[in-house]
Order: sequence, then structure tokens, then C-alpha cells
Amino acid sequence: MASNSKPELSVVKSEAEWRDQLSQEAFDVTRKHATERPFTSPFNNEKREGNYVCVCCNAALFKGDAKFDSGTGWPSYFEPVSGAAISEHSDNSLFRKRTEVRCAACDAHLGHVFADGPEPTGLRYCINGVALKFDAKA
Ligand SMILES: [Zn+2]
Repeated sequence: MASNSKPELSVVKSEAEWRDQLSQEAFDVTRKHATERPFTSPFNNEKREGNYVCVCCNAALFKGDAKFDSGTGWPSYFEPVSGAAISEHSDNSLFRKRTEVRCAACDAHLGHVFADGPEPTGLRYCINGVALKFDAKA
């Protein structure tokens, strides 16, 4: 599942450019791999249909109908909009093996994917809400 191959990024900006564009918290999470405090994202209670897009580059990442209430305090999804929308990377920090997920277009750190999610995929994409923007379906 995880690989550390370097995909071609379609959006490449300097650290200074990202810092200008993003809030401090979004910059820390997406570009510095920080983790937002649990139960702080307004998306935890977001149940409308729509698209969750990358806060950095507006690439579509998750659909509202793939969202579920994981109880973890972070927005959680059982699948991305497509396998090509995200990239997966082995993460051995914190002395445990996890699979990090990033935006495939701009390399933004989004969160991690775990194998304890609901049907139909059995996956749980545990995502920092600050890495996302929500476009509610009109
Ligand atoms: Zn992105």
C-alpha cells in the first residue's frame, strides 16, 4: 500500500510562497507535518454533500458522502475521490509504522490512513480539517 516513490507534482511553490498563501495553522500542518488538535475542526460536524478540496491547491480530495463519524476528533473518510488524488508514504515517526497521506498535486500533508475503517473499503482516512476546504453542493 505505501510507497515512497516520488510522484510528479503539478503544483510546486517555495516555502515562502506557501507561507504567504496559508494561515499559520494550515502552513504548519500541510507543509511542516503538524497535527491539528482533535475536535477543533468545524468539519467534524459537517454532514452536507459536497467536495473537500486541498487548502493549498484546490485539488478535489474527498467527497462528503465518503465521510463518516470516527469519533477520533478528526474529519474521517473511507475513500478519496480517486486513488490518483492522494499519495501514500511510509511514516515511521512516533515509533510506530503509519501510512501518511498527502495531496498528490502539491504534496500537502493531509493526515494518515488506517485499516480500521467502515465498509465498503475498511479504510479510515484520518485528515486534518485545516488541510481541507469544503465546497458544499449547491
Ligand atoms: Zn494540494
